[in-house]
Amino acid sequence: MAKNFGLVWLRDDFRFKKNLALAEATKNHDKVVVFFLYKKKKFDKQEAQKWWICESLKEFKKKLVDYNINLEIIETNSYKSFFEKLFKEKDFSIYWNRIYEPNYLTFDKFLEKSFEKNQIKFKIFKGNILNEFEEVKKSDGTPFKVFTPFWRNAEKFYTEKVPPREKKISRCQKKVSFFSKTIDEKEIYPKHKWFKKFEKYWNPSEDNALKELKTFIFSRIQNYSDSRNFPNLLGTSKLSPFIKHGQIHVETIWEECTKFKNKGVNKFLAEIGWREFNHSLINFFPHMLKGNYSKKFDKFPWEKNLKLLSAWKKGLTGYPIVDAGMRELYATGWMHNRVRMIVGSFLVKHLLIHWKEGEKHFKKCLLDYNQANNVSGWQWVAGCGADAAPYFRIFNPILQGEKFDKDGEYVKKWVPELRKVPRKFIHKPWELVDPKILKLNSDYPAPVVNHNNARSRALEAFKKI
Ligand SMILES: Cc1cc2nc3c(=O)[nH]c(=O)nc-3n(C[C@H](O)[C@H](O)[C@H](O)COP(=O)(O)OP(=O)(O)OC[C@H]3O[C@@H](n4cnc5c(N)ncnc54)[C@H](O)[C@@H]3O)c2cc1C
Repeated sequence: MAKNFGLVWLRDDFRFKKNLALAEATKNHDKVVVFFLYKKKKFDKQEAQKWWICESLKEFKKKLVDYNINLEIIETNSYKSFFEKLFKEKDFSIYWNRIYEPNYLTFDKFLEKSFEKNQIKFKIFKGNILNEFEEVKKSDGTPFKVFTPFWRNAEKFYTEKVPPREKKISRCQKKVSFFSKTIDEKEIYPKHKWFKKFEKYWNPSEDNALKELKTFIFSRIQNYSDSRNFPNLLGTSKLSPFIKHGQIHVETIWEECTKFKNKGVNKFLAEIGWREFNHSLINFFPHMLKGNYSKKFDKFPWEKNLKLLSAWKKGLTGYPIVDAGMRELYATGWMHNRVRMIVGSFLVKHLLIHWKEGEKHFKKCLLDYNQANNVSGWQWVAGCGADAAPYFRIFNPILQGEKFDKDGEYVKKWVPELRKVPRKFIHKPWELVDPKILKLNSDYPAPVVNHNNARSRALEAFKKI
């Protein structure tokens, strides 16, 4: 057992199960401190997640007490300057789990070199992924650009691996502190009280993530292939924020799901597969984090229109399914996948606004925001991503509503102004001419664009590239 401190850099790993860095630190050291770096500038762009992180820190800190481990939160303007100061302290070894984003992986390389130079022991572990992204490539060594062959290979590669053995976290002898200037997690809460609403919908803890997974497997996974498309139903797992913040490892999801065999399990694991695919894409093609994966879209004639962008963000476009989605996002920090596709398509095709504006807004509002899924999701919708929906396939928000929210239950839940509107008009309230039920432009906006005109305009714009 080493005499020095074992430091664990906590990022997206709020879990005890399958937390390799934490397990190794407690195996090697009597004195372990877990630390979290709060870089305000970074988190200001991920406002909703500040709430999730605060709650997670609170919960994790409490649990670490049982292991005699302190969780220390340090505010810093730059990871680099934080570590440069840390290199001067010699009495520690350090451990962390990987995050599969190019910036983090590049920073890992810098840290590796610096720790070696300073003769400080360190160890980096596999993060929340099934396969390390470099492990899954085509037979000619190039990365996959299409999902289906990617997932066929990734699944095979994963199942043929020797299953990793669970590593236990050991209890330390005594609780110690390491950093002198720490902050309380409460200082991370978003400034305005927007987050208060999230408390009604979410309980960010590892125990709850495991409970949600089990409930989903026992009661919903069997029908997942069909019910996942209907936003008025609880058809999906709603595990995404837990996965993002590491309250649950995707290997645990895999292990629990594959105890059962049905159509729903395969479809569900394929969605986990999309997450793996997106992580592979952003790391092999990092240019897509700054702009279009497909370069031909660099010439696309996007329009700047702050008024329309604001109507979209506020859920005031006059298209009920779009508005319901945007309001669900604001109220709960989450939006149903089908509706993410509809609102995304509406922004980039009906309003011709750059997908980056949507990406930025989702980053600010989503509790499950992660770089790989968000950037790839937006480029999938915009048609400029790898294996994306073709640009000319334009979602009709009226037909999408009528197909996936037939009775308008989802719309009525999030757009209360439309609660009295009969089913026939719920996805096209502008056709209702009864001011006793709905006064257009007063109770609820008229459509900000006409669907048919917007569709033609989008197709014209597409011809320019
Ligand atoms: C424009 C756009 C932006 C998106 N941004 C994000 C994001 O920032 N973070 C995020 O986690 N997902 C994002 N997604 C993907 C997807 O919408 C969410 O993962 C899903 O809605 C989460 O709900 P769930 O956990 O109930 O999903 P389930 O259907 O229960 O799926 C289980 C898990 O599989 C993964 N998954 C499911 N669908 C997808 C998908 N289409 N692509 C990649 N992974 C998927 C997620 O980790 C999810 O938690 C985005 C999709 C679009 C169209």
